[in-house]
Amino acid sequence: MKRINIDSTRLWHTIMEMAKIGATPKGGVKRLALTETDKAARDLFCFWAESDGFEYEWDSVGNIFVTLQGKSKNLPPVLIGSHLDTQPTGGKFDGIYGVMAGYEVIKTIKEQGIKPSRPITVVNWTNEEGVRFTPAMAGSGVFSGVYTEEEIYNSTDNNGMTFKNELEKIGYRGHRKSVDYEAEVYIEPHIEQGPILESENYKIGIVKGVQGQLSLDVSVTGFESHSGSTPMNMRKDALVSSSKMCLALNRMATEQFPGSVATVGKMIVHPGARNTVPGKTYFTIDIRHPRKDILFEMESKIKQHFQNIADETGTKVEIRKAWFTPPVIFNSICAETLRKSAEFLGYNFMEMVSGAGHDACMVNNKVPGCMVFVPCEKGISHNELENASPEDLATGANVLLYSVMDFAI
Ligand SMILES: [Zn+2]
Repeated sequence: MKRINIDSTRLWHTIMEMAKIGATPKGGVKRLALTETDKAARDLFCFWAESDGFEYEWDSVGNIFVTLQGKSKNLPPVLIGSHLDTQPTGGKFDGIYGVMAGYEVIKTIKEQGIKPSRPITVVNWTNEEGVRFTPAMAGSGVFSGVYTEEEIYNSTDNNGMTFKNELEKIGYRGHRKSVDYEAEVYIEPHIEQGPILESENYKIGIVKGVQGQLSLDVSVTGFESHSGSTPMNMRKDALVSSSKMCLALNRMATEQFPGSVATVGKMIVHPGARNTVPGKTYFTIDIRHPRKDILFEMESKIKQHFQNIADETGTKVEIRKAWFTPPVIFNSICAETLRKSAEFLGYNFMEMVSGAGHDACMVNNKVPGCMVFVPCEKGISHNELENASPEDLATGANVLLYSVMDFAI
């Protein structure tokens, strides 16, 4: 078989062109969903599709589909994609890479004069980041039947603007219902957003699944008293108690549950006065692991440990589950196809579990799905400094090319 390659210079160029839309002074991108900058990125994507002679359309929640037609129009397409929206201080690659790599793949197949047996479609999912409108992964969630169109339409931003109005305002509310779209298989290329591939010297990550997430709300009640006249042994300091809990959580994840991560990302201290012993705190816990049973075991250990700490410090603790997202296991045939492609092309790869959530988690509920990761510099993402090398991006796109051909030729 004659080896074909995607055009790595062109792929890099399209990513850099997209990065100009909403570019920030520090070299990142700010392109929140359904804003004028999001519209500009969508317009550019559709302009390219039009110029290159592809069919394109958008559905009822603004997901854009760009299609290279196959011999049979009626077969469900091989779907590739990700998202063009970003975090407020986001980078050039998170999401954008998946859409542009997909686009480069259909351009390459077309240029080679190869007519696929079924359509190959590149998708830009609406509002993956969930910054301006919640929930995250909204477009892929509606496509997959996880969220209803109404739920997403009614979501409002901080200024009370609804998703539906903002979608209409930028001209991307399509007629056809998102949930009515079909696909044979879904592949999402993405930068890793973590340091493992780079530090272990692998070019490709074959993503077997995405770890589960359990989120807890904790409130600790002590007793407010004067910071000058309350002796140390007579205090019920909610913050001291909470601090011990944070350390216990950190130790637990580090020492007792290998492969888990645990974070306290937010804490509010009441009354928050310099000269009052804190009487109350509220904080969040985010724990993640690829296995559901481990997450539940961690939850019960947390409850036990925290109760002991509360007893020792004379405080009261209440723990409430905020949400639980079960781990995702991607389709094994799809992952196997990625693995075979990487092997054929001679790239070293590792199988891994994604630490972050992606559109593929939603899509996998409806269509057999999988993901391919490429390294990003120092694992930095959700940051304006996010960076990846043109060679690594091309490597991932070539694995994508061969996998897509496997399903569509
Ligand atoms: Zn992303």
